[in-house]
Amino acid sequence: MMRAFVLVLLGASCAGTPPPRAAGAAAPPFDVAQLRADIRFLASDLLEGRRAGTRGYDIAAEYVASRLASLGIGPGGDGGYLQPVRLREVTPDLDAIRVELSDPALAAAVRVPDSALVNSDFAHLELDLAGRMTYAGKAVCDPDNGRDDAAGADLAGRFAVVLAGVADGVPPARAAVRSETAAKWACVSRRGAIGMVILRTARATTLGWASTVASYRSGAMGLVDADTARSRSVPAPIVVLDAPAARAALAAAGRELDAEDARAGAGKIEHFDLPGTLRIHYRARARDLASSNVIGKIDGADPALAGEAVVISAHLDHLGVDASGAIRNGAIDNASGVAQLLQIARALAALPRPPRRTVILLATTGEELGLLGAEAFVAHPSWPIDRIVADINIDQTGMMWPVVDVVADGAERSTLAAPVARATAALGLAVSADPVPEQAFFLRSDQAPFARAGVPAMIFRPGFRDASGGTDRNRALFTKWRSTAYHAPLDKIDQRDPPIDFASGVTMAHLVYLTALEVANADPRPRWNPGDVFAPGPADAAQAGVAHSR
Ligand SMILES: [Zn+2]
Repeated sequence: MMRAFVLVLLGASCAGTPPPRAAGAAAPPFDVAQLRADIRFLASDLLEGRRAGTRGYDIAAEYVASRLASLGIGPGGDGGYLQPVRLREVTPDLDAIRVELSDPALAAAVRVPDSALVNSDFAHLELDLAGRMTYAGKAVCDPDNGRDDAAGADLAGRFAVVLAGVADGVPPARAAVRSETAAKWACVSRRGAIGMVILRTARATTLGWASTVASYRSGAMGLVDADTARSRSVPAPIVVLDAPAARAALAAAGRELDAEDARAGAGKIEHFDLPGTLRIHYRARARDLASSNVIGKIDGADPALAGEAVVISAHLDHLGVDASGAIRNGAIDNASGVAQLLQIARALAALPRPPRRTVILLATTGEELGLLGAEAFVAHPSWPIDRIVADINIDQTGMMWPVVDVVADGAERSTLAAPVARATAALGLAVSADPVPEQAFFLRSDQAPFARAGVPAMIFRPGFRDASGGTDRNRALFTKWRSTAYHAPLDKIDQRDPPIDFASGVTMAHLVYLTALEVANADPRPRWNPGDVFAPGPADAAQAGVAHSR
């Protein structure tokens, strides 16, 4: 269902600068057929699932660059539309990887890969590391309320034994950020830890052990910056123990896993040593791959604001071919988002006068492998990062039912809430609370690296409401799609269960366009709300510094 275009006067005008769209200007030229055609090409079998580092991805990148050029939008990278991104694929050599525990009970319970896996940070492909083990709860450091699970623990030269999972007792807006592996590592490495032993609990286990091992065997991707490689998901030497082995590990110290999990939830950490020593042997093969982000740029029209830029991003990569040889075309995830980015680019290019601020259109690589393209952009931005005023990211805007309401994830935590309110009102869309907060979606797409760099960032996701106001039907559709088509060969342009709702795709593109235009034209730049975990401030300096220096 297409919505009638509502003409609104966007943004504040300032003296001498006429508003970019005068009332009566033509409605922005969104085009369902063109959106569908872009998805058709990007999700075609010929591109073989657009995995970062493959020819299929490179063809997709060239296609996006050509489409930007055809719209008259100039390149936004240093030397053109493509920003090179170097990736490192690390595949563990299971024959050479083992753990040795001097305590007999522990040694009996912990075996690679039946109950334990070993990872190294990407800078070390061979590792022989030994030390004693000290328990440090959930390893949550939350400077905002003075929590430090490692406070008082002697971790120098030792492995920190850490419970998996999200911190209880920390407000939801901070809990996911404080519970990331990189944050836990920052928390214990400050006290001298040489590695972590992560204990899986029943509560924190979302992926079965067999799937975890399968994904481990297939390798991991990191980013190569100059001569060093890094990965946020594996920031250090890490041993992961499946729940039964984790239970045995604590039992060897006379402790009970569930009781410690409950105690850690309440922030009441008692540090204790596990018996004996741990030695890990690790070896992996590495292969470096070349990929690229695609960047277009529309120069701002207001000399006073054109030095600041609004980024609109969408990931271009998907997961390639699966183990059985089936192509994972990624039509909704996220050929749709890139097609929407091109619709927005087209609408911006058609404006009689560009927005006051510069707009950067960013199609990223390696999102599916750990937000790598966005990380690379933030680490080596084609525009000064402190003059990027916002990132509005697009990643799977639903397109499974006629959109009635949306979630503006991240916007409620910054002054982006105001432009979002105006843009949704203009399109007759309601803004709903996140219906699946437990998924912690905010950290799982390309807005996250921008947020960590202090840039106000957000992503629109579909709400579950249907025309009757109920949410059960669309929640069921979403849940079913996530379990059958998401990241699987079924996510194709002609998927039937449900079919792609292209008109909703255009509505969502229009929504991002209106929001971005509001931000690009407003006098003040967006800010994180004071005290937000992403707001730049002294409380976060230590933790952010550790995370970013790697
Ligand atoms: Zn995905």
